[in-house]
Amino acid sequence: MDAMTMTRPAVLILLGPPGAGKGTQARMLEERFGLVQLSTGDMLRAAVAAGTEAGQQAKAVMEAGGLVSDEIVLAILADRLRQDDVKAGVILDGFPRTGAQAEALDRMLEATVQRVNAAVSLDVDDAAMVERISGRFTCKGCGEGYHDSFKAPAVAETCDKCGGTEMVRRADDRAETVGARLEAYHAQTAPLIDYYAGRGVLKRVDAMGAIGQVADDLNGIVAAATR
Ligand code: AMP
Repeated sequence: MDAMTMTRPAVLILLGPPGAGKGTQARMLEERFGLVQLSTGDMLRAAVAAGTEAGQQAKAVMEAGGLVSDEIVLAILADRLRQDDVKAGVILDGFPRTGAQAEALDRMLEATVQRVNAAVSLDVDDAAMVERISGRFTCKGCGEGYHDSFKAPAVAETCDKCGGTEMVRRADDRAETVGARLEAYHAQTAPLIDYYAGRGVLKRVDAMGAIGQVADDLNGIVAAATR
């Protein structure tokens, strides 16, 4: 099913620890289903880079691998959801990350007669996440994600998609910070798996496999959830 045949804007959530592949998969779903990927991590990094008040408050927490306050994250997301380009539907990547954020999202959607179509948990082993995270990098020009071992560009240091040659690695992808990020996930975000199971919209995908296999599984779930 494509964006033209969707009856109402879809709201999909990708849950999973850092390194599970949320960003990579969200970008693929965005292209395939005409949805817009909304990554609160990307929005916060943009706020930090722009030096906004929210960015200044978020910077140290992000560098330490903790979670930015619900207040800041909700304000940034609510602003983004008011823009016109999200009307066809969204894939939330890295949001919600706390119970309070999940409840706030439900309230925001109620106001627009929408609901969460599916929350997909990308299930992975913690032990593999450090390797996955510490090898990843992104094209500065178009945002395409790569990995030293799992998804190297065809020509070293050159983006397959846009030909850009400037690659960036995230400051919080250092091995020291990854442990704190995994801890924050288990303490504050993993309980959302039960939250969405209770609402009947939880789906699970084994995300330890190849990127293409995970994408196939997700395509089936998203097609069914947006029918
Ligand atoms: P991500 O790009 O999703 O891995 O997010 C990078 C960092 O941004 C996280 O480690 C948090 O510090 C912060 N962050 C992103 N999304 C959220 C959120 N929904 N709630 C709180 N902090 C967030």
